Amino acid sequence: MSRFISIIEVGPRDGLQNEQQVLDVQDRLEFIGRLDACGVQRMEVVSFVNPKRVPQMAGAEEIMAALSPAKLKGRIGLVLNDKGWDRAVAAGCDEANIVVCASQGFGIRNQGSTPSEQMATLAQIMAQKAVLGGPSVTMTLSVAFGCPFDGEVSQDQVVALTGEAARLGVDEIAIADTIGAADPWMVRRRIEAVRKVIGDTPLRLHFHDTRNTGLANAYAGVEAGIDRLDASCGGIGGCPFAPNATGNIGTEDLVNMLHRGGYDTGLDLQGLITTAGWICDKLGKTAPSSLARAGAFALTPAP
Ligand code: ZN
Repeated sequence: MSRFISIIEVGPRDGLQNEQQVLDVQDRLEFIGRLDACGVQRMEVVSFVNPKRVPQMAGAEEIMAALSPAKLKGRIGLVLNDKGWDRAVAAGCDEANIVVCASQGFGIRNQGSTPSEQMATLAQIMAQKAVLGGPSVTMTLSVAFGCPFDGEVSQDQVVALTGEAARLGVDEIAIADTIGAADPWMVRRRIEAVRKVIGDTPLRLHFHDTRNTGLANAYAGVEAGIDRLDASCGGIGGCPFAPNATGNIGTEDLVNMLHRGGYDTGLDLQGLITTAGWICDKLGKTAPSSLARAGAFALTPAP
């Protein structure tokens, strides 16, 4: 029996959020529908940020209202603060992905608060959830492998913050290489260190392919026993702090690698390649992913 790897599709959120071209709600819903048809079970569909700051993510409530929970079970909303949490609860998200930054510099510039203030917000949300209920909670630790402002992020810092999140009782912890600074060996060391402090809390990985190490990092994660990985269809997105950077690792590239290696993802590779072409047409760009360019491996028919 092949090992199942769960791929969390983040294209409609992390992908589109970092694209110049702003898509309307209708196009974003079509993107989500096409990904759903490819077999995606968990998807970051919205972000509860201020639309004035991130116009790409406007209309989160509208999108949630249009998505049937009977169809897509894992509708994830990104949450940066208590206001975002209230919106995620009201919109009926199945999961909230709450971001805590691993570095001071990124925390202040991205969210206007320090990592310890963000941890305090997470604690407050978890306390509120214990009384009033709410969606399942993932804590994503961003810039967990390097920060564009503060430089190297120490493993001790990552261990301290993930350990604290586990003690707060979050349902899942993700460590994110927001700017593509990680290497596969570092990934392995951080996974091993984090595991020692998070007990049974499932660990998920989030990589950007900014410097072409994304798939190697994903491979290192799988080899270290991780079975939850983020990816974005087409490899769309970018990085606000690295001009000309590509986005998340491409879902179809990751699926191709895993399927060739005998892993099961439950995803339709050909459907993902078609969807990558479709979304990149909408964005007016060439898909950054390799599979969108080269196609899936197959015998070439005789001429
Ligand atoms: Zn990201």
